[in-house]
Amino acid sequence: MQQLSFPEIFLHILLTDFLRYFLAAGAAYLVFWIIFFKKWRHRVIQQKPLESDKIGFEFRYSMSTVFIFALVGFGIFSLKKAGYARIYDDFGEHSGLWFAVSIVLMILLHDAYFYWTHRLMHHPKIFRHVHVVHHRSTNPSPWAAYSFHPLEAVVEAGVFVLIVLTIPAHTLALFIFLIYMIIRNVLGHLGIEFLPAWFIRNKWLNWHTTTTHHDLHHKHFNGNYGLYFTWWDRCLGTEQAGYRQAFDEVTSRKSESDKDTEPFKISSAPSKHVAPMLLMLSFVSASSAQSAEGIWQTFHEESGLPLSLVKITEKNGSIEGKVIKIFLQPWEGEDPVCLRCPGEKKNAKIVGLTFMWGFKKENGLWANGYILDPGNGTTYSSSVWLEDANTLKVRGYWGIFYRTQTWKRVEKDGK
Ligand SMILES: [Zn+2]
Ligand SMILES: [Zn+2]
Repeated sequence: MQQLSFPEIFLHILLTDFLRYFLAAGAAYLVFWIIFFKKWRHRVIQQKPLESDKIGFEFRYSMSTVFIFALVGFGIFSLKKAGYARIYDDFGEHSGLWFAVSIVLMILLHDAYFYWTHRLMHHPKIFRHVHVVHHRSTNPSPWAAYSFHPLEAVVEAGVFVLIVLTIPAHTLALFIFLIYMIIRNVLGHLGIEFLPAWFIRNKWLNWHTTTTHHDLHHKHFNGNYGLYFTWWDRCLGTEQAGYRQAFDEVTSRKSESDKDTEPFKISSAPSKHVAPMLLMLSFVSASSAQSAEGIWQTFHEESGLPLSLVKITEKNGSIEGKVIKIFLQPWEGEDPVCLRCPGEKKNAKIVGLTFMWGFKKENGLWANGYILDPGNGTTYSSSVWLEDANTLKVRGYWGIFYRTQTWKRVEKDGK
């Protein structure tokens, strides 16, 4: 390094930071989402496709983070040159045991630093200016690993400064820590739960966070603030109540090959016409005489908190649903619009948006309709049926997968 000029050193650091991100996120994306996707498809936590424009967004912000990390890296290099950093290059300076201990200390320090700065960034006043960028990924991909607002990137880089000023670490130990960091970070945003079902029950392992752990944080915005370990969230009561059930649910799903042996068989991708037919067989006793008309309460899937009120109207056997109220989080603004909705619905106010349409009543259910998720602008094929007079089941299909929500009746007549 001695012969290199400062710009050359900066470029070296920039390239290393870029490759660290690009190789880790790229490898995870390639292996899980492309080459072996079929094997992992049933483990896609949110059962939704990744959206290419969202990946583009995550990548662009990650590039800004790479640049900021490189600037901080250059600062650390300068600190080291000036004799302030505690990084050492000679293995003889400390014992082999210290080499290992220093790595563990860096991981523990980073985990604590991340938990507290992350919680702070969830303060509503800070959240909407800084951390909101990272939370634009409600269904994160591996590329979201560095998707931070520049200010958040500076906060994240702060831990490296703290480490080099306090922990005497060999350059190689620091490098191992950086590799550990990017791998855990990318896996947290993988979107696919790859761990076995027993992981969460193993007392030696279950204090590690899982992909589901961080995925739920992206989905619900609150709780599960931890990075590497679950202990901060557990001790401080910020672990999401539904985390363990969600992990069990994901890891107990049957793979496509297993599904062939099930009585409720979906062996190939059913079209929006076939799926409701299969569905019909599973609830022969659907209450066909009742009406879905009225006002319904929808809920967050894991937290169970109220999400919105929906008014359903019925005409000539077809139903239509409109959002009439949303229960907003402090950072969601006054009157949100659907930024990603297609066509004429783009930028429409979510309150008042017709997001369910085209259903036809057949054999006790409303089938072959469409449902638009205002959160991501994706339209799914959908079927709806009444479980009882006050319980509505709403199912959205994505290829051979589906998710079913339960809505509760608030008022019979939606005037
Ligand atoms: Zn994240
Ligand atoms: Zn967060």
